[in-house]
Amino acid sequence: MIVTRPAYQNLELQPLAGNWRAGSAGRPLEVFDPFTQTRLLQITLANRDDLDEAYRKARETQVNWAAQGPAARGQVLLNAVKIFDERREEIIDWIIRESGSTRIKAQIEWGAARAITLESASLPSRVHGRILASNIPGKESRVYRTPLGVIGVISPWNFPLHLTARSLAPALALGNAVVVKPASDTPVTGGLLLARIFEEAGLPAGVFSVVVGAGAEIGDAFVEHPVPSFISFTGSTQVGRSIGRIASGGEHLKHVALELGGNSPFVVLADADVEQAVSAAVVGKFLHQGQICMAINRIIVEQPLLETFTRRFVERVKALPYGDPAKAETVIGPVINSKQLAGLQAKIATARAEGATLLVGGEAEGNVLPPHVFGDVTADMDIAREEIFGPLVGIQSARDAEHALELANRSEYGLSSAVFTSSLERGVQFAQRIHAGMTHVNDIPVNDEPNAPFGGEKNSGLGRFNGDWAIEEFTTDHWITLQHAPRPYPF
Ligand code: NAD
Repeated sequence: MIVTRPAYQNLELQPLAGNWRAGSAGRPLEVFDPFTQTRLLQITLANRDDLDEAYRKARETQVNWAAQGPAARGQVLLNAVKIFDERREEIIDWIIRESGSTRIKAQIEWGAARAITLESASLPSRVHGRILASNIPGKESRVYRTPLGVIGVISPWNFPLHLTARSLAPALALGNAVVVKPASDTPVTGGLLLARIFEEAGLPAGVFSVVVGAGAEIGDAFVEHPVPSFISFTGSTQVGRSIGRIASGGEHLKHVALELGGNSPFVVLADADVEQAVSAAVVGKFLHQGQICMAINRIIVEQPLLETFTRRFVERVKALPYGDPAKAETVIGPVINSKQLAGLQAKIATARAEGATLLVGGEAEGNVLPPHVFGDVTADMDIAREEIFGPLVGIQSARDAEHALELANRSEYGLSSAVFTSSLERGVQFAQRIHAGMTHVNDIPVNDEPNAPFGGEKNSGLGRFNGDWAIEEFTTDHWITLQHAPRPYPF
């Protein structure tokens, strides 16, 4: 069954180099609702020729787009914000249907994408050049801050609308053209819907293309192509490493932003308010079925609170409603697809085999996996070492605060983290010693604000998003000097 939406129809087509048309690969991509497992739509995939056309058109149209003044570019972003508001329900409906998001998560994602679009409207007027002092007589030394040109964006399926928008909106606002390759599970919310929104908002045709193509066919070409000077990648560490290698070791060198996997520790110190920590842990772990890079991956509790925390956490988790994501009360919906489900079931089997104690569990129905909680988890177990990306979590015991810190830092990842304590300043001191890009004291690790630096350390990636950090990422310096008086040369 093909479900058509009230507006924003014909999303079977892709905006390629200024025209909505079918891809040229000839093969279909079927997009399914992860909960009902019915087909939402079918898209004819793009190939390398389509990609090439999109990049060339982007290069051609970028110059005029950048030449529009800051107010004109900012206005397109403001128009897009208005469309986000007018089409709120339609956008939320697509997020629920295409990515299996609960209504709560879909509303959060809509809000985050809208917020970065609004923030981006102010970026054009926040770009500053500089005049530098010069030691050379008669020389004026200027630094111009200019757009990078064409940006390639690759995004994942978990927060597709927002994770595409957080690169797309600032990059466009700052005068770049953009080509997006969305994830195969979420081509609509990860790209096509945004193309409709920006088209309606008045963005000139060709400045933004969406290429829905198979990774095996266009993945490398997307990064290697001579036109883009910057690749913004959000996804797994494994794929991100390969993107980084191609971008820095290929024929055409380019900048990259890599926003990769995480393994967020959630530390509960002995002086924490247990009820507050339990409430946070439930949301920080199970929002969007745990399929968030910042989601809690390890709960680390200082010994004196371990028993109380575990008992209260288990009680709360057992009561979480799971099932149909469209129902307002549902907290845990389906995971994205059956392959992902099988991977999570394998992690559950490994945790049991390694000696963790199952405290909450249950059988999957369709792609809905009930929440799982494990006790007696140690740092060397898979469930602690690996990114989970699903509704499972293990609880580790820490002897004292120093041991909790050591456990928190025992990871190849360093994206987000959280610490609970009744002394906020102690929390800050603890936070400063966590090796991560983001730490929240007395809150969940899942936080993203459009004006605050988002990004990770270690194998969680390179670069920062949002606000001034987006200006840093999506523009570059051009040093230009003027020699006012003839310069005496040595020969
Ligand atoms: P993934 O790495 O499998 O895919 C991400 C994107 O890369 C998709 O669009 C995919 O089609 C594309 N891709 C895959 N192989 C490619 C290749 N060889 N060349 C070019 N593109 C290729 O990740 P996923 O499963 O979609 O997402 C989950 C992962 O993303 C998790 O590890 C999660 O932590 C991470 N993530 C990170 C952030 C962050 O901001 N740090 C945010 C969300 C998700």
